[in-house]
Amino acid sequence: MSINKEKYIEIIKELGDKVTLVAVSKTKPVEDIHELYDLGQRDFGENYVQELVDKEPILSKDINWHFIGHLQSNKVKYIAPFVHLIHGVDSFSLLKEIDKQAAKNNRTIDCLLQIYIAKEETKFGLDEKELNELLHQLTIEPLNNISIKGLMGMASFSDDKELIRSEFKYLKELADKINIQYSIPNVQCSIISIGMSSDYTIAIEEGSTMVRIGSLLFGERNYSK
Ligand SMILES: *Cc1c(COP(=O)(O)O)cnc(C)c1O
Repeated sequence: MSINKEKYIEIIKELGDKVTLVAVSKTKPVEDIHELYDLGQRDFGENYVQELVDKEPILSKDINWHFIGHLQSNKVKYIAPFVHLIHGVDSFSLLKEIDKQAAKNNRTIDCLLQIYIAKEETKFGLDEKELNELLHQLTIEPLNNISIKGLMGMASFSDDKELIRSEFKYLKELADKINIQYSIPNVQCSIISIGMSSDYTIAIEEGSTMVRIGSLLFGERNYSK
């Protein structure tokens, strides 16, 4: 139960200064987070609200906490005071709730819109039509305490590298389109959050600016405990 330091150093070198590493620490103990923190890592990702809320107060205040899971509207209030970036926004109503809770905390919360790019029913996210509807809604009903910084996606769970590549390419093209087609003050797609342990090298080749890596750094997760 210890982190893979060699792998961490290798990945950091590989990413260079154009791609941000979010170390995905879900299900992992705070000791492991400490170890990576001591090597200089500051961006960590969590999937479960309760787990994040438990970990945040006992860890350093200069950690950037990324919420990368599926967020339910009724739980936004728990992470709104401190969350750095919410990756999985997939509806206007969720965005509205984030805006409301951000206002209560006198802050702006940065968000990514999650796009459905995989060929699997189990994944969350907006399709292109829903994405356009959401952005259109924002032009009618501006939200002043959120800022949309980019798009996030999860590729198919597959060995087919060309399939994964085409899914990442599609997401990058959507981000470029949004930047050209819309001029909404708090929407600027500069963050492309794609790539996990198994596919981050493909993601980088296809324009990722942020990778979310868990098991390569922390080892396989054990959900049975
Ligand atoms: C768990 C998770 C990751 C990290 O997955 P690994 O395969 O362990 O790198 C990345 N993104 C999301 C949305 C996740 O839920």
